[in-house]
Amino acid sequence: MLVRCSLTIQDLNSPQSKGRPLKSCVMTKKVNDKYYVCVKNSMYPNIKFFNLAMLKNLYNKFISEGKMGLEFKDPKQILLIDSQHKSEVLMFYTHIKAIVDGKNVKISTHQMPKTVSIKKAVINRFDPMTTNFIAVDHFDNRVLNMRLLSKLVLEKCDLPTIPVEIGHLPIKYLSISGSKLPTNQDTFWNWTSITKICDTLTILKIDAIGLKKLPFEIMFLKNLQTLSATNNSLSYLPQFIGELKKLKNLFLYDNLLVYFPHCLSSKTFNEVDLSDNLFNLPRSQSKYDHLLQYLAAVDTNKILTEDFEFTVKPLSHLALYNLMDNCLPFKRQDIPRTLWMYFNLVGRCIVCMRWILPYYSKIDYTHSLPEAIYLIKDQRNISIPWQSMSCSSPNNCMRQIPNGAIHYEYFTRYYFILF
Ligand SMILES: [Zn+2]
Repeated sequence: MLVRCSLTIQDLNSPQSKGRPLKSCVMTKKVNDKYYVCVKNSMYPNIKFFNLAMLKNLYNKFISEGKMGLEFKDPKQILLIDSQHKSEVLMFYTHIKAIVDGKNVKISTHQMPKTVSIKKAVINRFDPMTTNFIAVDHFDNRVLNMRLLSKLVLEKCDLPTIPVEIGHLPIKYLSISGSKLPTNQDTFWNWTSITKICDTLTILKIDAIGLKKLPFEIMFLKNLQTLSATNNSLSYLPQFIGELKKLKNLFLYDNLLVYFPHCLSSKTFNEVDLSDNLFNLPRSQSKYDHLLQYLAAVDTNKILTEDFEFTVKPLSHLALYNLMDNCLPFKRQDIPRTLWMYFNLVGRCIVCMRWILPYYSKIDYTHSLPEAIYLIKDQRNISIPWQSMSCSSPNNCMRQIPNGAIHYEYFTRYYFILF
């Protein structure tokens, strides 16, 4: 990356000789796997290279004023950068820091300051060969040109949206931790509807973004191995999380969870962190139970009649079961809004594995701990509650036998109505 500034080079071998500020271009370059800071100005018209391996100190005290310093051991010199483009200096600092911290940043040498004309900016876009990108404060659409991008860090950024097109990049690692997300933005998770990223994404970090529930769109990320959603306000994990078959690491500390979905109980994780949640809350406190809470609300609205067993179920449920069974990634806006909330309620029957909604199911709780090689939990948690759903009348259940074939035990009216 490149920053245009006024640069003073001070020679530490002869402290009495003060360098004078020169209008310069300072940029990062990677040559034969070594990182350099390069200076071009009237004193060094042919570019002077400073090896970043020789960096002794990085000064950022006045970074907010567009000033930073780089002190090298060899040559024993300090580069003092002073620029009116403050955000560029901050970006440059973050970039150098990432290199020093060994984050293996792929350097884009073509990036130009915002002052260049639009025509030039198109030519001098971000390096399309970049594999890792760390945003400083916002999502930059030029990231979409990085066709090889595998790691995208959008931490502590202002993210009014993430363009759906990032779904076309082969991203394996995505973090939006600590970022400011929009409230009421239906299109925010649309990128998960693109097959490419569903195939490639293995690590998703959504820590500290004020989440109250998981967006159902993450169930499309079939190859997700690590989900980190710590420091949020999650009060439950929806059952669709069980569809993430490759999930191995689950970090959920500092949330409001009172139970886990039963679908995760048969899984062996590498690492689970469920500390700082509310698993010890007495079960009677059903206001913390999202399904019971929902059922109570429907009940008072008298949606359910006495003989609801005989009622024909709304067709919208059929649409929901269909979507769940076919696992097709879709955009939230593509389906009726009335279906959205069902994703938080729907679960698989623990006997027949069919998708069911709480009004047709029995809701039960068992107690145990997640199976994990590394399990981090509160000391008081001897076990945690697991919430399970099963068809409310067992006669309707087709028991699935282990080889995957379905054994028809019963055949009833109820079955016909639903499917
Ligand atoms: Zn069943």
